[in-house]
Amino acid sequence: MSDSLAELTAQVSELHQQINDYNHQYYVLDEPSVPDVEYDRLMKTLLTLEQTYPELKTLDSPSQKVGGQPLKAFSQVTHQVSMLSLDNVFSTDEWQAFVKRIQDRLASHKALVICAEPKLDGLAVSLRYEQGVLVQAATRGDGSTGENITQNIRTIKSIPLKLIGKAGIDFPNIIEVRGEVFMPKASFELLNELAKKKGEKAFANPRNAAAGSLRQLDSKITAKRNLAFYAYGLGFVGDLSTASAPLIGKSYLKSSHYQRLCQVKALGLPMCPEVRLLETQQQVQDFYQDILTKRDSLSYEIDGTVLKIDDIALQEKLGFVARAPRWAIAYKFPAQEELTIVEEVEFQVGRTGAITPVARLKPVFVGGVTVSNATLHNQDEVERLGLKIGDTVVIRRAGDVIPQIVSVVMAKRESNAQEIVFPATCPVCDSKVAKAEGEAVLRCTAGLFCQAQRKEAIKHFASRKAHDVDGLGDKLVEQLVDENLITTPADLFTLTEIQISTMERMGQKSAKNLIVALENAKQTTLAKFIYALGIREVGEATATNLANHYCTLPAIKAASFEALQAVDDVGAIVAKNIVNFFKEDHNLSVVNALAAMMTWPDIMVRNADELPLSEQTFVITGTLSQMGRSDAKAALQVLGAKVSGSVSAKTHFLVAGEKAGSKLTKAQDLGVTVLTEDDLIALLAKYN
Ligand code: NAD
Repeated sequence: MSDSLAELTAQVSELHQQINDYNHQYYVLDEPSVPDVEYDRLMKTLLTLEQTYPELKTLDSPSQKVGGQPLKAFSQVTHQVSMLSLDNVFSTDEWQAFVKRIQDRLASHKALVICAEPKLDGLAVSLRYEQGVLVQAATRGDGSTGENITQNIRTIKSIPLKLIGKAGIDFPNIIEVRGEVFMPKASFELLNELAKKKGEKAFANPRNAAAGSLRQLDSKITAKRNLAFYAYGLGFVGDLSTASAPLIGKSYLKSSHYQRLCQVKALGLPMCPEVRLLETQQQVQDFYQDILTKRDSLSYEIDGTVLKIDDIALQEKLGFVARAPRWAIAYKFPAQEELTIVEEVEFQVGRTGAITPVARLKPVFVGGVTVSNATLHNQDEVERLGLKIGDTVVIRRAGDVIPQIVSVVMAKRESNAQEIVFPATCPVCDSKVAKAEGEAVLRCTAGLFCQAQRKEAIKHFASRKAHDVDGLGDKLVEQLVDENLITTPADLFTLTEIQISTMERMGQKSAKNLIVALENAKQTTLAKFIYALGIREVGEATATNLANHYCTLPAIKAASFEALQAVDDVGAIVAKNIVNFFKEDHNLSVVNALAAMMTWPDIMVRNADELPLSEQTFVITGTLSQMGRSDAKAALQVLGAKVSGSVSAKTHFLVAGEKAGSKLTKAQDLGVTVLTEDDLIALLAKYN
């Protein structure tokens, strides 16, 4: 190593400074400015330096400390048994190295029994029960001193104020239960929606929201925040309030961590239902994968698993290092948030003329994929973020949700960062742009005269859920429009084989196939015909409702603004969009040209209440393997059923595909009839 000691000391001191700043933002202000991976990277660099050069490790190093200083506004609680953090691993190899270290230390290579738990993303608390009554609750604080938050903890419904059973007989006179207070995802989303509406600052994640809610000086605010709790361990246990007699208390307790959690559950404290006792390495890997798969469907946020040696005697033998026990490890999931740079902002024109700013990012690996673009939605969003080109941003990609820019790291802004300027005219056709009253979106006003809108309208017309024209990909549509061979969807049907075969990467055979596909697309349904027109906010469900209600195209075209609102799911905004669409001569000529070339079966005029599934409400969840969810939805609606997005007491049937998650659990709790995909297909067949 060629670095001089002075340089290394300066590097370590800078790391201390940065980590301490981030700790303050995270633990004290509940407002982190960088994602956890960035923090973890800095901490890893510090730990590696300290390991290589032990002389650089000082007593005040953040590597030796747990959490942050307790807030002065609360009275302080000294923990009789320290509340520690956890060390992390991120891969199978690191996990196996952890197991080996433990076996070496124990001088035994016997298989270890592991208590496996989800790593809940909230904050640790210690609940002290004396004679079975909750007398004190404290945060972890810096590990030895926490904040007294007893009043606030009392507002959490799942935490009992009194334990089940008799002190001194069923459980020790003094027992400290440790666990995580967290905010369920649904409550977090609601809280942030409310904050945004009131123009207040939103919390970065459920963990910070839980911490911010629990550390309120006014417990009435905490009471409104719908916090929850799962127990995952014990602190001080004894029959006297001094550390001198803890052994007496321990005699009540089992010698397995898992069984102790079950004992705590029997006293009335909730335990996470995902906790498992595992005996082999394979089971540990399977548990990790299983929880990772379930992650999005769990009602609370987690960021990994926690693996603990189950045997309490072994835990005691292994003991602790500075800030974490040796007998437990957090096996964390890959990060869902990362840092990257916004290199450029471009403006895209969509099917309805909406001009959307899109951030071009320095490619970054996050949530399992490489992300290089993120939509910025509209001007309000750009302003809310306070974003400039060149900024370092936190990007989040969770589950299947599209990547989002969460925040700007202001501390990393360079002096040459550039303002984002919205275009004064359409970036594609140079026509006027306008913002409708009450809308945040800027739109090109040129309609189908705008090349970009033409392309998008034709792509939509040919898309899978519309007429599903095989072989007509986005690139081909763009070429055909650019070459002025087509300007509207109706022109597709006038294309010749020769015209198509002259396009890039199109041979005679693919041209022939496309002509056949277009010919096939002419046979459609009225619902698909309406959907494929791309009227603003008329999705598949609305198109189906319109078709069922009016039965014919002329009737839909002639429907008035007032009459349209009698159709299911059609409100004033959608009704206005439909009326405006059919008012435009340009649209009418496209619709008429299409109608002259396409055919669909007649819809029998039936009263809605005569349809076989009228009055029945369905919810569809999970992955359907034989039909798409949207096809299933449309098929049910044609039979008069209502298809809703969430399960409630009013739901009659839940159609559960593969990997059904929380909706299935809720339906089972409510006693809703659950149908498999095969049941659904049989039901549809009965009426078709
Ligand atoms: P941690 O969150 O990585 O792990 C320890 C904590 O896990 C415990 O205190 C407990 O609260 C929790 N936990 C959840 N489920 C558990 C279970 N089943 N059993 C036991 N404990 C469980 O550690 P920490 O010390 O609280 O925080 C360090 C981490 O916080 C860092 O790795 C980083 O990811 C994040 N952090 C981020 C920033 C930032 O600026 N973004 C700053 C500081 C810390």
